[in-house]
Amino acid sequence: MRCANPRFHDGSQSVQRSRQRTALAGRTVALLAMLPSLVAASSALAAQKEASVPDAGTLASSAPAGDAALPSSLAPGAMLAEARLADAQIRLWPATLRPGDFFEISVVGEGVASAAASFETETLPLFRAAPGRFRGWGAVPLEHAVGEARVHVAIVHSDQKTLSSSLSLNLIERASVEKTLRVSTRFIRPSASERAQTRADAVALRDAYNVPFGPPLFSANFTDPLAHQRGSRFGEKRVFNGSSRSRHWGLDIDGDRGDPVHAANDGVVVLTRACFVSGVTVVLSHGAGLFTAYLHFSSLAVKAGQAVKRGDVLGYVGSTGRVTGPHLHFAARIHDVLIDPEALLDHDFEVDGPAHLDVPK
Ligand SMILES: [Zn+2]
Repeated sequence: MRCANPRFHDGSQSVQRSRQRTALAGRTVALLAMLPSLVAASSALAAQKEASVPDAGTLASSAPAGDAALPSSLAPGAMLAEARLADAQIRLWPATLRPGDFFEISVVGEGVASAAASFETETLPLFRAAPGRFRGWGAVPLEHAVGEARVHVAIVHSDQKTLSSSLSLNLIERASVEKTLRVSTRFIRPSASERAQTRADAVALRDAYNVPFGPPLFSANFTDPLAHQRGSRFGEKRVFNGSSRSRHWGLDIDGDRGDPVHAANDGVVVLTRACFVSGVTVVLSHGAGLFTAYLHFSSLAVKAGQAVKRGDVLGYVGSTGRVTGPHLHFAARIHDVLIDPEALLDHDFEVDGPAHLDVPK
């Protein structure tokens, strides 16, 4: 495919990420204020050296032990990790995934008053789906090492008792090809004004993603924004004009100039902007920390602030920004981490819990 877009916005990405981390830190502080005992228990558990508990089955499980259950272990290839805290069941899936993928956490228990999770240093807010039911999604950055990683979950019971546990993720290699691309030299050596525009684009994007955490705005699964052949995949290694190296931070979908591009799910338009690198761009917030972005439009059909439904036309395929031909670059993000859009399209959001998985007893 012909997408030459390395990330939503090249160059200022590190600034953008650092600012996003600041924003995330703000959310963490808010969560800390809401759940002090819960997060303290979670942090304490994270700090201690944990001993894995080998499990003979394909499921990891752990039993409550006072205020902190033993961490669970995970059999290679297992798709579901489970733990039990008093009467609450904690599930995480898929538990075997690649860097750049994401996972869902579900906490179900009649007596659960609140719940929170964290992946390494990142807090993963959970939303209350129903009384005693909490859900949320967390992403594994593309740069993350393969091997075992841990997700910590803490709950506050209605009797004020705090319980916490950790579950294993099994991170496996992501296959990726390397491609050589040739783009206009102005994208390799931008002028001072083009560099200034890229910085302004990054600020606009940072502001667009600064959405308070809340429940999801969608109830059905995500769908393809453009019914065409898929091209370059997420994570592809790129060499531009023989020297400049980067990764491909989205999915390219083939298309002809003027083809309508559709919202992948219900949400709100949080950005419409003609950017230097990503061209004419739309970003949607879907709630619960999920975002999708659509790049290189020729023209737009929506405005910032507008609510959209899945399938609504956002704009039309074009070749604006750093491209070598018309197509859609489709990107997805959870909290401040760019993820593989194909993982988003494949995930079953319509079940509250992994009922579709064959759960061994
Ligand atoms: Zn692309």
